[in-house]
Amino acid sequence: MSLSLERTASLIVSHSRLLLDAIASSPAFSLSRNLVFAYALCSLSATAYRELWARGPLGIFSDLYRSASKLFFRYLLRAPGIRDKVDAEVSKVLVSMEQQMVPRGPDITYYRELPQHGWSEEQIIAEMQHLSLMQHSAWEAGKVSGAVYHGGKELIDLQTQAYGMFSVANQLHPDVFPDVRKMEAEVVTMVLNLFNAPQHSGVGTTTSGGTESLLLACLSAKMKAYHERHVTQPEIIAPITVHAGFDKAAYYFGIKLRHAPMDPVTYKVNLKAVRRMINSNTVLIAGSAPNFPHGIIDDIEGLSKLALRYKIPLHVDACLGSFVVPYLERVYREIDPTVNVPVVDFRLPGVTSISCDTHKYGFAPKGSSIIMYRDSSYRRHQYFLATDWSGGVYASPTLAGSRPGALIAGCWATLMKMGDDGYYSSAKSIVEAARLIRSSIAADIPQLTVLGDPISSVVAFTSSTLNIYEVADSMVAKGWHLSALQNPAALHIACTKLTTESCVMLVRDLKDSVAQIELAHGAESESDIKKKQGDTAMLYGVAGSVSTNGVVDEMVYGFLDNLYKA
Ligand SMILES: *Cc1c(COP(=O)(O)O)cnc(C)c1O
Repeated sequence: MSLSLERTASLIVSHSRLLLDAIASSPAFSLSRNLVFAYALCSLSATAYRELWARGPLGIFSDLYRSASKLFFRYLLRAPGIRDKVDAEVSKVLVSMEQQMVPRGPDITYYRELPQHGWSEEQIIAEMQHLSLMQHSAWEAGKVSGAVYHGGKELIDLQTQAYGMFSVANQLHPDVFPDVRKMEAEVVTMVLNLFNAPQHSGVGTTTSGGTESLLLACLSAKMKAYHERHVTQPEIIAPITVHAGFDKAAYYFGIKLRHAPMDPVTYKVNLKAVRRMINSNTVLIAGSAPNFPHGIIDDIEGLSKLALRYKIPLHVDACLGSFVVPYLERVYREIDPTVNVPVVDFRLPGVTSISCDTHKYGFAPKGSSIIMYRDSSYRRHQYFLATDWSGGVYASPTLAGSRPGALIAGCWATLMKMGDDGYYSSAKSIVEAARLIRSSIAADIPQLTVLGDPISSVVAFTSSTLNIYEVADSMVAKGWHLSALQNPAALHIACTKLTTESCVMLVRDLKDSVAQIELAHGAESESDIKKKQGDTAMLYGVAGSVSTNGVVDEMVYGFLDNLYKA
């Protein structure tokens, strides 16, 4: 039986070999083989040419060198003998991280199963009050960068009331919740007007946050290029400083993200580099107003000109700029008319989409952002339709299916409560706080340097004489939580309504920290200091080095795993 099977198989193989030989020797085959080969060669050299054009020979060489060394050290750290030591070190870090993130003790109970009988309301409220006392970064005192943008009790009470009134609402059912549909449409329209969208064509949707707005902008650009120009290998060009949401979009939707370098002095994207990266696969160019790391507004006007010349859509990420950037012109007319405030919105003809986070400087409850388009031909490509689904004709405008209408009510109530004058005066006080921090650093703390010329709410600074991450750790000891940046190493503070009260204290504490670190370096040996390194200095010391970079992934996976430990 098995023998006859084998025989049949070998017969088939020998016959097909004969057949293949016959095909291979036919002139038609050799022609088509040559064609396939020529095509492969062409497309390969086109790719090589594109890369060479976009990055230059030096750029490609340094990219290759960097990835090769990373790869080398990754393997080295996995080598027998070394591997065990590395794993031991990593697990030490993971254990201490878990102790911090998942505190345990006699006064903390973790509930791993449903209570057999439902709790009373009093018991639940008491438990939640107890939870809110868990040790945390002091946002209430204005000592955290970003995170809580308003935090005023009156506004929180109003939002809570709005949430309560609409807690059952779901935008998936506009017939059941016409009130929420109306509020959502109004929120989008108000924000479109804030960004000077064309009166009759501008459109948008609400989303769950800045990341979703970016995901949708990228998705829509990808699908538009696919349907209109048959682009099957989409590429997006964005500054190296652009929000990681673009990397996430590239990861989720199979897009190649080309990071354009920034100008080393202005920290704005290098326009020449962007131009060189444009090719027939480019589906979107992006710029930030301002960017997260340094609070710098890219040259959006320059990007708009490029976008028009090459007929490519342009996205402006104003997620962080949100309700500060639209007021900058007015604010500077009042506080310092010598500052040149660039136009970054739909008044620039090349701008086709803008994202704006209502949950940042719009002060709405978290889970709220707006994605806007110049006209509906862009928005259409972010829509999802399944018209022959057995569950009925289905359509949904954004990533989620069911959506929390309560958040729309909270956002609408916030916008109506703040009003144009409320947003103007908060933008003014926030910008003034950032300017105070910036000028005080320049005047009083010579060891620190502010990066670029930030005119919005974020100020980033670095040091050429100190390890800036040690400054971060020293500030942590004083109750502050600043954001650590890398490439180059720096820290930033995103000023909020709460920091307008604490910015003088911030500068004083920064000055103290710098002095303390200098003193310690004078007195102790470098190896002693290394041993005492805080979390920030340790993490970025490891992340910043090519030889240990691979280890960071393990720590970050551990961090994410910790989020779900009970
Ligand atoms: C905050 C931010 C985003 C979006 O972040 P989410 O956390 O998803 O709201 C996008 N771009 C910039 C520049 C940001 O600062």
